[in-house]
Amino acid sequence: MLIYNATMLTLGSHPRVIENGAVLIREGRIADIGESAVLRARHPDERERLDASGKVMLPGGICAHTHFYGAFARGLAIPGEAPRNFIEVLQKLWWRLDRALDYEGVKYSALVCLVDAIKNGMTTLIDHHASPDAIDGALDAIAEAVEQAGVRAALCYEVTDRNGLEGAQRGIAENVRFARRLRQQPSPLLGAAMGIHASFTVSDPTLEACVQAAEEHQLPIHIHVAEDPADEDDCFSKYRMAVVERLAQRGALSARTICAHCIHLSERELDLLAEHGAKVAHQPRSNMNNGVGVARVPEMLARGICVGLGNDGFSNDPFAEMKAADLLQKVSARDPRALGADKVVHMAYTNNAAIAQLFWRDLGGALTIGAAADLVLLDYAPFTPLHAGNAPWHMVFGMHGGMVTHTMVGGRWLMMDRQLLTLDEREIAAKAREAAERAWKKFAALGSD
Ligand SMILES: [Zn+2]
Repeated sequence: MLIYNATMLTLGSHPRVIENGAVLIREGRIADIGESAVLRARHPDERERLDASGKVMLPGGICAHTHFYGAFARGLAIPGEAPRNFIEVLQKLWWRLDRALDYEGVKYSALVCLVDAIKNGMTTLIDHHASPDAIDGALDAIAEAVEQAGVRAALCYEVTDRNGLEGAQRGIAENVRFARRLRQQPSPLLGAAMGIHASFTVSDPTLEACVQAAEEHQLPIHIHVAEDPADEDDCFSKYRMAVVERLAQRGALSARTICAHCIHLSERELDLLAEHGAKVAHQPRSNMNNGVGVARVPEMLARGICVGLGNDGFSNDPFAEMKAADLLQKVSARDPRALGADKVVHMAYTNNAAIAQLFWRDLGGALTIGAAADLVLLDYAPFTPLHAGNAPWHMVFGMHGGMVTHTMVGGRWLMMDRQLLTLDEREIAAKAREAAERAWKKFAALGSD
């Protein structure tokens, strides 16, 4: 497959803008890159061709932290008084909605997110799943949806003590079972992690069991960290130490740990993240929505911490999350120099690729020879000069997910000219509405945890 005549933004360590650029794709990878005339002359026999005139080509979007299970929250009314704080948001919304999901709900909640991902050019997602009344096999239900969609997703089940010791053990067992399945039947689209909800919902024995299983099965750990001060308060009162200190002491912190949020951290905790090479996923839209605070992203980046961007279940538009990340830091610091589009794009592509490489070694977050052919085409007609130096500002302030017309993963088209090729959006929406209605009825019948 030769895609030519595109304005290519390669990103990566040596970002270039190639006008009239082309890529040759062989066996799911980028085999050649350059100017269209050169590549057409070099590969005259390539039969499959796509003229991408007027379009911008970018690497596929990567989401470092999401929740497929949260899709049915859209339009859902929470009975009684509105949640006043983060813990009440969990108790009144998320810990009831996840319990209301059956297997069909798990699958269709994932499918609607995957439709949204493909339409917005998000090609790789790192998911964190919970469905306490449908634990065993839940990751298979999601995996089925992921393979049907054709995107890449790393899956885990969130281990928590909120459903008792037995619930925690079943969560660990589900992660281990899924990891074993992937070892026996590897899929280029799937990855496995050990999911842990958060420090404040796991006792020491549960945390130790998670760490042990993660080590035994060589799984990255994916956990929420200090999303709200309540996580730190709990840790100080129970263990006389901060959350990141606890994770480090219990062996849960390493270069293979994805820590979502990391908002309320001390200097010492930031140092520990850097020392251990732990990865951080930042979700500015979710943080704003929950009113939980602002992560110290510039300080983390300055310490050399790999901070990527997730969406925490918000829409899968990578441009929307990038813009929110930039604006939030500026308003928080009351300084228009805070963060900046160049750093935000680096987080969303280069750092997210480093996080995704915990699961897929050939994901580079860049259009480079040898990288997996995960890419998107957008209808974007720049009305000011576009070059390598200002491309991040075009991306953050000029582009949005609705401009994506073509999405490719591993050399396979998942969307062309806005037409989904692997999923039937209307049928999925109809079935999802049935599953959501069931989930909403159960939600209404459940009390707060
Ligand atoms: Zn989350």
